[in-house]
Amino acid sequence: MNSHSERHTLFTREQIESAVNRLAVEITQNYRDKNPVLIGILKGVFIFMADLVRYLDFPLEVEFVNLSSYGSGRQTSGRVKVVQGLSCPIKDRHVLVIEDIIDTGTTIAFLMDYLEKEKPASLKLCTLLDKPSRRRKPVKIDYLGFDVPDKFLVGYGLDCDEQYRNLPDICYLEE
Ligand code: 5GP
Ligand code: MG
Repeated sequence: MNSHSERHTLFTREQIESAVNRLAVEITQNYRDKNPVLIGILKGVFIFMADLVRYLDFPLEVEFVNLSSYGSGRQTSGRVKVVQGLSCPIKDRHVLVIEDIIDTGTTIAFLMDYLEKEKPASLKLCTLLDKPSRRRKPVKIDYLGFDVPDKFLVGYGLDCDEQYRNLPDICYLEE
């Protein structure tokens, strides 16, 4: 990140709120009687997860895993590391994975394989943002907020070198 990057708003907080609300309605229809485990992928998902679960008015559990595929800055390392794994058994549970953004698909493909081995009753994926133009691994998205262009996004939980997570809007950085 250098000081010449300019920041532009891609989605305002109002647009994000209405997308989160719409996703919550869809998720409620399918999970209201299932006591699902929602598994968020840290750190980027922390704000989306916090907003989403407050719209879900039924029994559920919240878990987090901490994976890392990116090093610092904007480049993917192509490798996924489990920094912190699951702390509850998910065998025979309905599991909904919550992600902030899917880019090449490397991170989520790895996590879905890892969770599938635990034999959940069902395993689905919700992501706020999808950057399909950069996909390298096939990924099935069950609940999607927005398709986004191939730009480096920050805000609403997303960082660049750990900065900008606190921005209420989703922005992109440009040289
Ligand atoms: P993938 O493994 O799909 O290539 O990358 C997924 C992860 O890379 C996301 O969970 C996120 O942490 C990070 N990532 C991908 N695209 C962006 C982006 O535009 N901005 C930020 N801040 N992180 C991104
Ligand atoms: Mg992430």
